[in-house]
Amino acid sequence: MNKKLALLLITTGILGGCEQFNQESVSQSSQASETSSSIDTLTPEEKQKLAEEAEHQAMLDALPAVSTEDWNLELVNNWTKIDESIERPLKALPNGLLVDERIIEDYTAMTNAGKEAGHEIVAVSTYRSVELQKTNYNNSVQKYLNEGHSREEAVKLTEDYIAIPGGSEHHTGLAVDVMDTEWVKTGKGLIAEFDTQASQKWLVEHAAEYGFVLRFPKGKEEETGIEYESWHFRYVGKENAAYMKKYDLSLEEYIALLEEAGK
Ligand SMILES: [Zn+2]
Repeated sequence: MNKKLALLLITTGILGGCEQFNQESVSQSSQASETSSSIDTLTPEEKQKLAEEAEHQAMLDALPAVSTEDWNLELVNNWTKIDESIERPLKALPNGLLVDERIIEDYTAMTNAGKEAGHEIVAVSTYRSVELQKTNYNNSVQKYLNEGHSREEAVKLTEDYIAIPGGSEHHTGLAVDVMDTEWVKTGKGLIAEFDTQASQKWLVEHAAEYGFVLRFPKGKEEETGIEYESWHFRYVGKENAAYMKKYDLSLEEYIALLEEAGK
């Protein structure tokens, strides 16, 4: 065992109950007192650092047997543009919107479970071509220009929510923007306050069971490059979603961790 880790485990009492430390031989107890004196020499910062290193190692050890090359871990963001050469098996949901057909079974199971819990979840925006994204992006910039903003401001305001064409996860067919039928009737659209709806809270709690994660959570704006979006869910598969939820990771952070582990 790594000496630092052993020290840490002793400090936290994990190894305290081990037989070897309970034996009352003189040599064992003198060894133990030496050990505790070396722990005493650590500053609180050093102890904290050791604890963080051990925690990080535990996270690496707990990673599922997956690969960053897996189709459901495809990363697309403002820095990582879509690979348009990849063929995407698109298929329509019952409402006609296209998604990658490999997510339909889990998506349907999720919305059915939501329905049983009293929430009529509906997909309102799914697969989007790069061309359509260009149109959306340009329309948004134009809207802000018309409101009197400078071009620089208009671009900034647009990019808070709208990905640069080629940089939208919607190009993968793995992302679904959702509302519920009640929210649709309010006409408020895709705004952060959708998270006041019980359906959204239900999704945040249960989406991972069906392989989905809230892709742009509050507090992860730096990592994702996108403002909080209470409505945008992304399919990553059940194993990945469970891990990301447990450790509160954005897809960018999760992929960086997988890369660090050589997966
Ligand atoms: Zn979206």
